[in-house]
Amino acid sequence: MTFARRPWTSFLKLRHLIIALTTSSAVVSLVATVYASYRVQREQLISQSLDYNRAYADKLASSVEDFFHGAQQQLAYSAERLAPRMDDAALLEEEVRRLNLQTDSFNSVVVVDMRARILAAAPESLRAQGTVLQDPGTRRVIEAGRPYISAPYQPPTGNLLIFVAQPILAADGRKLGMVAGTIYLTEKSVLNQLLGTHYYRDGSYLYVVDAQRRILHHPDRRRIGEVMGRNAVVDRTARGQSGSQVLVNSQGVEMVAGFAVVPTTHWGIVAQRPLSATLEPIGALMRQVLAWTLPLSAVALLLVWAFALKIAKPLNAMAAAATNFRAGDSDERLRAVSAWYFEATQIKSAMLAGLGVFTGNLRRLQKDAATDPLTGLGNRRQFDLSLARLAERGTPFSVVMLDIDYFKRINDAFGHDVGDEHLRRLAALLEEGLRPGDAACRIGGEEFALLLPRTDMAEAVVRAEALRLRAADAPMPEGRRITLSLGVAEWPGLAPGGPDEVAAVLKAADQRLYAAKAAGRNRVEAGDH
Ligand code: GH3
Ligand code: MG
Ligand code: MG
Repeated sequence: MTFARRPWTSFLKLRHLIIALTTSSAVVSLVATVYASYRVQREQLISQSLDYNRAYADKLASSVEDFFHGAQQQLAYSAERLAPRMDDAALLEEEVRRLNLQTDSFNSVVVVDMRARILAAAPESLRAQGTVLQDPGTRRVIEAGRPYISAPYQPPTGNLLIFVAQPILAADGRKLGMVAGTIYLTEKSVLNQLLGTHYYRDGSYLYVVDAQRRILHHPDRRRIGEVMGRNAVVDRTARGQSGSQVLVNSQGVEMVAGFAVVPTTHWGIVAQRPLSATLEPIGALMRQVLAWTLPLSAVALLLVWAFALKIAKPLNAMAAAATNFRAGDSDERLRAVSAWYFEATQIKSAMLAGLGVFTGNLRRLQKDAATDPLTGLGNRRQFDLSLARLAERGTPFSVVMLDIDYFKRINDAFGHDVGDEHLRRLAALLEEGLRPGDAACRIGGEEFALLLPRTDMAEAVVRAEALRLRAADAPMPEGRRITLSLGVAEWPGLAPGGPDEVAAVLKAADQRLYAAKAAGRNRVEAGDH
């Protein structure tokens, strides 16, 4: 047999394919699950943080709004109180001091007349009394005679501040002046306290801009007063919008921001937290997800593997049976396969049926190859095989060779068909005399042989003699009789141990048969002459 190169696909086994398939699908679904839950967690954390910052900015915006309302009301109360007695310096003094100290709202308080001259100021350390405010903006506010909250304002000497002003109006509506409180933006102030108590852990912070994008409050004090450049959130607060969004801040850091606008001042309050801090818990969350998913996936995978092997098993066993077809036990091996599902049972029964047909045909062919078609006896091939098998097993045996005397004459006289009938009758006669284990074969035209296992020469001669007599008595077609010449030999006994022992036995039997012919026919020869 020659071995062709096997294609690489023939090394792939079903169970390996199934395992590869199931493993990869499990890995893909695990990755998909982990990724999906990562996305969900991320979205959730961001949205929570957006909501939280938005709520915080809203709360502060309303606190700041309340603060300004309160501050304006305090100033309005003072304005009312001062209006009838603007010339009472002591009262003015007392009132500004009270506003400055008692209310805690303002870093400083002044009362000015319509010419912007400071009538009273607190704290006294300002020494501002009598000074005339030169700033044209301030004058306009005084002249307008309406409550006012200023933009951040940097006086020539002093802190960046805002001021809250209330006109002092006489009972007839005449404008008398203004009472104003300042709030320092960079120093300690009530506004700073309100905004600055904010959380600064994990990089979260809060800042405030006015409608002109000027920074009013910032954890980095140096930035107070700076005008904000491009910033998505400040763009929106400047348009009066409240809300939340993720953005990149001026330092290039991604931020989750919530923002709200103070209605009265149009300030934007922005509370924000770095995205990285927002997503910080995701590591632990994902570890938790994995801690749940991995063991479950592993168990599922093992179950799938076990099941895959169970599916592959019958196919595997059938393939093995088919591979070892020549071993001869394929039928038993196939029957032993537990085909537990439809396709496997179909394949199994198809293979069994195929194997049945195949072995049936083979047996018939083997039988045909060993049988003489005319008489149904074994042929020369069968005879040689049986002989070799006996010799191989060391079973002693005798051989009787026989030939019909003057058979040619029968043929000549009655034709070949009648001759054939003679051969068939003789064959039947030979078979009748067989004991279990004996064999009769037609080894040539009208030459036959008996194979008698465990029969010694003496017994074989007796059997040959009996046969000769029976044949002579047997009625033959056309009322004829036949006689036989027989030669007997036994094994072992001749050329013992030699390589051609069996051939020597046959040769001896043949020679004795011809000796019988030579000696006059119708006789048995069993020894050398
Ligand atoms: P003897 O053996 O006694 O020496 O004489 P014989 O006439 O039998 O001579 P031999 O054995 O040489 O002749 C064999 C004859 O057997 C020749 C042939 O016509 C005949 N024969 C061989 N095979 C068949 C067969 O299959 N059918 C028939 N009808 N005759 C056959
Ligand atoms: Mg002959
Ligand atoms: Mg003959």
